[in-house]
Amino acid sequence: MIYIHIPFCKQKCSYCNFHFSTSMNFKDEMLDAMKKEIFLRKDELHNKNLQSLYFGGGTPSVLSSDEIKSLIDEVLKHFNFNNDIEITLEANPDDLNAQFLKGLSTSPVNRLSIGTQSFFDEDLKLMNRAHNASEAEGSIKRAQDFGFENLSIDLIYGSPTSNLEIWKQNLNKTIALEIPHISSYALTVEPKTALENWISKGKVSNPKEEEQNREFYYMIDFLKDHGFNHYEVSNFAKEGFYSRHNSAYWKYQEYLGIGPSAHSYNGNDVRSWNVANNQQYIKKLSSNTLAKETEILSQNDQFNEMIMIGLRTIWGVDLASLNQKFSENILDKFNKAIKNKIEDGILKIENNHLKIPEKHWFMADGIASDLFLI
Ligand code: SF4
Repeated sequence: MIYIHIPFCKQKCSYCNFHFSTSMNFKDEMLDAMKKEIFLRKDELHNKNLQSLYFGGGTPSVLSSDEIKSLIDEVLKHFNFNNDIEITLEANPDDLNAQFLKGLSTSPVNRLSIGTQSFFDEDLKLMNRAHNASEAEGSIKRAQDFGFENLSIDLIYGSPTSNLEIWKQNLNKTIALEIPHISSYALTVEPKTALENWISKGKVSNPKEEEQNREFYYMIDFLKDHGFNHYEVSNFAKEGFYSRHNSAYWKYQEYLGIGPSAHSYNGNDVRSWNVANNQQYIKKLSSNTLAKETEILSQNDQFNEMIMIGLRTIWGVDLASLNQKFSENILDKFNKAIKNKIEDGILKIENNHLKIPEKHWFMADGIASDLFLI
């Protein structure tokens, strides 16, 4: 699978620490550099058929539909792909106007992941999103009118401007709009963000973990009652609408990341990442040089990664692969570390897979990190 990082956004959301620029001055140079990178790395997936191409960011929908098509053409020209390849575009509601959607509907993009976050203006203002509540709803209906059925939306719970009642209304709206996939995250306060600054100055109250916990577990029950499978801590899908791209990532498959700050993984022990700086990225590629650094993952790193990713999913960690891949020394430490947690019901083994029971999924990252090797 291939991930393409579009490093531009219209404005900075208050909670975000991703890599992007709000200046589009070098957009054409950036697109040329990305096409160059696609070409230079065309042999890295070893002729495997692509099952998924994913545009993330940043905000890919700041590009025109023609610019998106030209990047897709470049990928499909140089890589083998399955006929039913999933091509996802992350899009913000304020970009999903009729003209853009019309262009996109004639492109190979067949899945949209919409950065809705909330259907309430107060939440959206706090998050400094570029859209309002009416655009949040209108963009989804418009996308459906243009034939996009494979839709995912992002929703953020636990905002200080929200509460359980508002959250219930957000979820009801999602069901009414017949959206088959939801990615939902707690609002987190990242360092060096506007949100952190406002909280430190007392302008905004800190999100409450207790409230986030309540909203998370309400969502699980609610979405299950409405036919969703909870297949990863933050992801819910109707049957047939699991994200192929993310599922492959959660199953440790190889992926190639194009664009500034994008990461790549060879499915085994090599990880690389591109420079998180637009100008440096463009400069390197314009001289036919890749802008990436590579690291060989130690046994401990590979082990930690498998635990971290696997324990967040319904599939869990495959103990047979773990036994095959890691030394006795590592496995001894691991078996000791999981023993008490299994007795306490925080972990369980099912069909030789180690899993966190769903009622403890809110704490999944903490439970996984207790098992890390250092
Ligand atoms: S649109 Fe997405 S990437 Fe851009 S600032 Fe907002 S959250 Fe961050």
